Amino acid sequence: MILRGLLGTTGRSPAAIRATFHSSAAMALALVIFALDVLSPLQGAVAVLYTIVVVIAARSGSQRLVLASGAFCAALALTGYVVSHGSAPLGSPAMRLGVSLVAILVTSLLCASQISTAKARRQADARYATIFDAAGFPIWESDWSPALRALRNPVGPSPECVRHAAAQSRVRNANLQAAKLFGYRSGADLVGKSIAPHYTEGAADIQDEIFRALRAGTNPVEVETQFVTLAGDVTDVVLRISLPAGASDWKRVLVTAIDVTERNRNQQRLAESHAELTHMARVMTLGQIAASIAHEVNQPLSAVINYAKSGRRWLQREAPEAFEVFDCLDQIAHNGSRAAEVIAGIRDLSRKADAHRAEVCVTQVFAETTALLARELRAANVTLRAAMSPDLPKVIADRVQVQQVLMNLILNATHAMSDTAADQKQITVTAYSEGHFVEFAVSDKGPGLGGRDPETLFKPFFTTKHNGMGMGLTICRSIIEQQGGTLRAEPNEYGGLSMRFRLPEIEAAERAAK
Ligand code: ADP
Repeated sequence: MILRGLLGTTGRSPAAIRATFHSSAAMALALVIFALDVLSPLQGAVAVLYTIVVVIAARSGSQRLVLASGAFCAALALTGYVVSHGSAPLGSPAMRLGVSLVAILVTSLLCASQISTAKARRQADARYATIFDAAGFPIWESDWSPALRALRNPVGPSPECVRHAAAQSRVRNANLQAAKLFGYRSGADLVGKSIAPHYTEGAADIQDEIFRALRAGTNPVEVETQFVTLAGDVTDVVLRISLPAGASDWKRVLVTAIDVTERNRNQQRLAESHAELTHMARVMTLGQIAASIAHEVNQPLSAVINYAKSGRRWLQREAPEAFEVFDCLDQIAHNGSRAAEVIAGIRDLSRKADAHRAEVCVTQVFAETTALLARELRAANVTLRAAMSPDLPKVIADRVQVQQVLMNLILNATHAMSDTAADQKQITVTAYSEGHFVEFAVSDKGPGLGGRDPETLFKPFFTTKHNGMGMGLTICRSIIEQQGGTLRAEPNEYGGLSMRFRLPEIEAAERAAK
């Protein structure tokens, strides 16, 4: 204020006030030096002091002022020489003048160049700050040099040492998004703090992982972790930690974060609904085949009762036939086991379990499926023909899920042929090995695609049945893809549809796993 008053600069910018002050001070000093030069007996040696004037002028930050004061000082030095030694022949005063002029020139040029460098740096800093603040995601700069010092411990960093190192690291600069990520109101609130307390307990090891990767020369380092905000909310983030070029002292570590909480929750929801849908589809399929299973169980149970009755008759004879009774008991045991197997099949099919991948014999799965569908096929008057290579390799898959897919495709083909001529109602299932995959095709003689894009059939909720859900094929495709295969639909030579799917052969699956 005092300075403003003295210089009469009210209303001017601080930079302009500073320039006026420095130029006035420089001018006053230049005149004092001129007076000394002319009046003192030092004979030109004083002129070298003009360099101080240039340095003072440089404090204003104006290149033009520096060059002007340099020129002004040079003029004063010359004038001083003319006044004091104008009439004398050239001698040592002239030499001292020459040295002073060179000193003034060099100082002026050096100061001007320094001002231009400082200006360029200020502009770069301003650009950096703009980018920093305008970035739409959390970004902060930290000083991790204390961490680096702690980690250089010759014994090697212990977990306590890593924790201590992380707690020592301080945020130097942070944008608003970074502040919000941790629950602060502004970037300034985060400055000077360590973010170590914001790691969730389960994510504490991540710091060790980051330090190790940086020390091993990885740059940038990318990790997924979890932070807890001041309010206690947990956020999933992907961190990208980079050391700017030449920042091997870890003083300016740049950290960017992408909030992936929503993405992770969606993935989780997707996985859950997929499991639900798969389960639902199994239960629906189960409903369809329940009648067949009842039939399958009924038959061995009737046999058990008949053999038991027959055994009793053999025992009631005057001379009981031990051999016949033994045979009856054998049959009872055999039929009992068959019934138990059928029931175990139902349990497997309706169980809401995760995919259980193992070696699967394709022909066996096919045989089981056709046995389960026999009644439904008979009722629809459909014949099922199989054309499978005898030496089909095993595949790696979930047996129950493959059975579910086959069952779904065969039932769809059966329903599609409801209007097909009775003597044409035929489904052909082929399986052969090709290029490390077992290729299956379920072909019918129904109406085919009816001009639709084959992909339409796999869209969720697409159905042409009045009681359909349109989820069967969507689920079948996701099951097959989960097992490393593909499922597609295409028209066939009978005018119907072929559903083709492939599963990796056992060797191919093992190779992929290696
Ligand atoms: P839903 O059986 O409940 O309709 P799907 O996803 O199993 O559900 O089948 C979707 C639709 O695909 C069926 O409604 C039918 O229009 C068509 N589709 C499926 N299989 C065949 C087939 N073999 N021939 C003709 N159309 C079929």
